[in-house]
Amino acid sequence: MVYFDNAATSQTPQQVIDVIVDYYTNYNANIHRGVHTLSQEATDKYEQARQTIQRHFNAKYVHEVIFTSGTTHSINLVANGFSALLEKGDEIIVSALEHHSNIVPWQMLCERTGAILKVIPMNQHGELEMDAYDALLSENTKLVFVNHISNALGTINPIKHIIDNAHQIGAAVLIDGAQACPHIKPDLQDLNVDFYVASAHKICGPTGVGILYGKEEWLNKLPPYQGGGEMIAEVTFEKTTYAGLPHKFEAGTPNICGGIAFGAALNYMNAIGFEAIADYENELLDYGTEKLSEIEGLKIYGTSKNKTSVISFNLEGIHPYDVGSILDKLGIAVRTGHHCAQPIMNYFNIPGTVRASFAFYNTKTEIDTLVEGVRKAKMMLS
Ligand SMILES: *Cc1c(COP(=O)(O)O)cnc(C)c1O
Repeated sequence: MVYFDNAATSQTPQQVIDVIVDYYTNYNANIHRGVHTLSQEATDKYEQARQTIQRHFNAKYVHEVIFTSGTTHSINLVANGFSALLEKGDEIIVSALEHHSNIVPWQMLCERTGAILKVIPMNQHGELEMDAYDALLSENTKLVFVNHISNALGTINPIKHIIDNAHQIGAAVLIDGAQACPHIKPDLQDLNVDFYVASAHKICGPTGVGILYGKEEWLNKLPPYQGGGEMIAEVTFEKTTYAGLPHKFEAGTPNICGGIAFGAALNYMNAIGFEAIADYENELLDYGTEKLSEIEGLKIYGTSKNKTSVISFNLEGIHPYDVGSILDKLGIAVRTGHHCAQPIMNYFNIPGTVRASFAFYNTKTEIDTLVEGVRKAKMMLS
């Protein structure tokens, strides 16, 4: 089995599985509520995980790390909060490279508020056009939303430029780091970003847990997203006052085990080291790009010099789904389709691509198997 669908979700290392088993075996309890020992232990471990995440991302304060169910939840939380802060005629900028989860919530926000959505265009390499971006910025711009790395093409976006220029006109910036975090260790204070979101399941952690990082000042400005237990200071039928950060945004019982395992996944990745991971993955990317390019009629989409280990491609005249099905029969897992990024596919005028995405645990031998499989698929289908 060759697993090249890492951009959809990563495999879970034994070290992380052990932490999950340990939780359910030894200290499964609800947090922040009980005085009993198990509840204390679960609370301590959960809050330690939050600190691990704070350190990993270099957030200034631990309460700037909000646990969510994942990137999609985090984005919706922010989009919902901005309903209260936007007025008709305000502008939101997104990019042509976005995942659907980074387009739809903003369209919904625009419908609620009368704000207008603007799109940063991209070029043939799958790179965002920064001149066009700068021209879109105006005093009406209130928010900019861009992914750090495109899940469909692997492009690493110039987020420092995007953040700095948005700040010059007073707009807030949310960066979707779902695809970046498996490859890069972002320094959120250095980036000076207002919001940053990620999912644990793409960084060797479990599904159903992720984070919203927000600068304290911004999180204080946003109203709570969901009401319920855990997020209140005091409740009467006349008036409820909300808890402080981070609990204001964490209504109900969270994914306790998931949060703890997320911390364990980051510890695991940091023990390997993100520089070593990036170096190795770049080697895989170069190797895979070279070998796949040798196949006649194969076209790679996303050819930026700044990209991570994602290769999106098609065989001339063959539907990506057919290629993916044959590869699957050969024991090679790739993703086919529009990768939740239909606007990108429309730009290239294709129904989708075959996407092979490599992680640090993949090998060149596996890439050889893929190349062989693609050659076989080509023979069978043409
Ligand atoms: C995977 C992904 C998402 C969605 O993440 P979920 O974990 O499904 O919420 C959003 N944006 C990008 C760039 C992604 O790769």
